[in-house]
Amino acid sequence: MLALDQPARQSVRERPTVAAKANDEGKRRVRVVLVGPPGAGKGTQAEFIAEHFDIPKISTGDIFRSNVSGGSDLGKLAKKYMDAGDLVPDEVTNAMVRDRLAQDDAKAGFLLDGFPRNIAQAYELDSMLGDLGTTLDVVLDLEVDNEEVVRRLSGRRLCKKCGHVWHVEFDPPKVEDVCDKCGGELYHRDDDYPETVRHRLDVYVSQTRPLIEFYDQRKQLVGMDAHGPVEDVTERAIESLAAFAG
Ligand SMILES: [Zn+2]
Repeated sequence: MLALDQPARQSVRERPTVAAKANDEGKRRVRVVLVGPPGAGKGTQAEFIAEHFDIPKISTGDIFRSNVSGGSDLGKLAKKYMDAGDLVPDEVTNAMVRDRLAQDDAKAGFLLDGFPRNIAQAYELDSMLGDLGTTLDVVLDLEVDNEEVVRRLSGRRLCKKCGHVWHVEFDPPKVEDVCDKCGGELYHRDDDYPETVRHRLDVYVSQTRPLIEFYDQRKQLVGMDAHGPVEDVTERAIESLAAFAG
């Protein structure tokens, strides 16, 4: 098992502390890949971090959707695979990411979420950035221990009507299993049952571990404690990334 439940490899406190006010003295940008298990709050943190550093958040999900809905050649190709129920091959994903990174708004920095997924894609990212005359600054790993992930995900209840996500422990509705917002009935997603969450974690670890080790060996990895309130995690993330921002 990967050390999801071990202390951060590299404490944020050991890094030079750079005041977390990136945009006060002109723009300080950073090129970052964000990784973390399901339930680490990666999507939320990605939004806040991207906003703070004024960099685009580039997720493979978003790139897929925009290529498919925009009807680009790559989008059409990807759609063929998806319609057939097949995985979109790496080459197609890579080409989409390459296009996206070459756009103007990503020139000074970006946050990648969902790419690279494997070491081959990590080398591909090196090559994309090399062609753009730049390099990756840092890979930020949001570390949450397994039981916390189970607690976070298995407590989720979704509204059948409006889709709002409640949490039995952290954000409970006033009446059990009823949505405060719309009165809809709440349900427990199959994916969020504890056993399924544990399985999802195992899959995540087995897929991501080699990638994390790869970046660790290259001294590009910063592990970060992602327990605690969302705003505290954001603050720590910004602080650790500020050391790499230029
Ligand atoms: Zn609702």
